[in-house]
Amino acid sequence: MPGKKLKRGYGKSGAFRESEYAMSITKGISQDFAPSRYDAIVVGAGYAGSVCARMLAEGCNMRIAVLERRDHIAGNAYDYEDEAGVLVHKYGPHIYHTFDERVHQFLTRFTEFTDYQHKVLANINGTLMPVPFNHKSLVLAFGAEKGERLYSKLVMTFGENKKVPIMELRAKNDPELAEVADYVYENVFLHYTMKQWGKTPDQIDPAVMGRVPVFVGDDDRYFPQAPYQGMPAQSYTALFERMLDHDLIEVFLDVDARDLLTIDDTNVMVCGQPYGGEIIYTGALDELFGLDLGALPYRTLDMQFETLDMDQFQPVGTVNYTVSEDFTRITEFKNMTGQVVPGKTTIMREYSHAYEPGSGQTPYYVINEPQNIKLYEQYRERVSGLPNFHVVGRLAEYRYYDMDGVVASALDLSDEIINQR
Ligand SMILES: Cc1cc2nc3c(=O)[nH]c(=O)nc-3n(C[C@H](O)[C@H](O)[C@H](O)COP(=O)(O)OP(=O)(O)OC[C@H]3O[C@@H](n4cnc5c(N)ncnc54)[C@H](O)[C@@H]3O)c2cc1C
Repeated sequence: MPGKKLKRGYGKSGAFRESEYAMSITKGISQDFAPSRYDAIVVGAGYAGSVCARMLAEGCNMRIAVLERRDHIAGNAYDYEDEAGVLVHKYGPHIYHTFDERVHQFLTRFTEFTDYQHKVLANINGTLMPVPFNHKSLVLAFGAEKGERLYSKLVMTFGENKKVPIMELRAKNDPELAEVADYVYENVFLHYTMKQWGKTPDQIDPAVMGRVPVFVGDDDRYFPQAPYQGMPAQSYTALFERMLDHDLIEVFLDVDARDLLTIDDTNVMVCGQPYGGEIIYTGALDELFGLDLGALPYRTLDMQFETLDMDQFQPVGTVNYTVSEDFTRITEFKNMTGQVVPGKTTIMREYSHAYEPGSGQTPYYVINEPQNIKLYEQYRERVSGLPNFHVVGRLAEYRYYDMDGVVASALDLSDEIINQR
């Protein structure tokens, strides 16, 4: 029923349930929705939209309507308990890490983080080796004697606890270091990248492959330098529930903003009326204009979840399949969240392929090529003359962001808007 007010929260299989938070959330929008009641309309309840909503409500008492076309908040960070009671990430595994003090302080207002330290293994012909490739991986790949010799040479050449791109290994003109570089290129990078991006070897940018790192050391954490990392103590969705829980914020789910918004060169119209408030738009710009200049290309992922009758399937959160299988990686959520569910675990396989606009697929990864950026800039140009129309986020900016990066951008945009008022 449009405009039906809900008690917020999500339960098994992502269905709504009662929850302890007071955030205002409504499914659909009623006929008497009056844009003029709001000082800002935020499109999208992911990080970009939710951070702006909270900041603007708190920073200058703006009344905010958040329009979200999915039936849940939290964007691609959304998580929920599946039928087996395992907390899973619907849109792929999300691991929080940041160097940004402000981002961390902001997020820790809404959640505590566990001290989870992410580790990734590559399954190379059945052997699980740490990536980035490190001391232990060398021994596993080349055997104890040769592996230790290669490692000593790496330490002597580059020093310990250094991340060294394979192009630097090759530049030393040492056959053994070149052998390490070739091994890593073939077994960690090449097939995985071909699967992930649908490319043939000659289509892979040599500069990108040269940047593949070897870690000269024993630390097998994926983000060894990040001072802040972990998983939200409860869940990402709970983090968003708290962020959006503010007297001046109303969230409307199952509402596609394109049904309400019209843009021309000089005006933003909402529900057919000129709108003078701020619009924070976190959706895709090509969609907003009906793809009339062409669709922005993306890669998408098919995510296949499977619940197994066992305590644990693999030793770490993520195992990359870098030389075999059609899928790129397997995630086991309990290994990341630390959740205890005896006798059950849920894993997820990711299959990467080209995104087809209008097919209901989720656009995940932008394809960062000059012709795509040029097309994006043509769409962006169309909204550049609208001072109250702000674009922020991975879709609206057509760029890859980690969670901390998008929070930082949303904080910056909010500062700008608050300072102008
Ligand atoms: C597979 C995968 C794994 C990732 N893992 C990590 C990780 O481990 N660590 C990390 O830091 N980052 C990770 N990320 C990145 C992270 O997902 C993004 O940084 C984050 O989701 C960006 O937030 P956002 O608000 O810009 O976009 P989104 O989360 O996509 O939110 C945008 C929201 O806008 C809504 N919307 C769009 N158009 C409309 C419309 N017309 N009307 C109404 N609503 C609309 C969408 O439904 C969506 O909910 C990962 C990304 C992917 C794809």
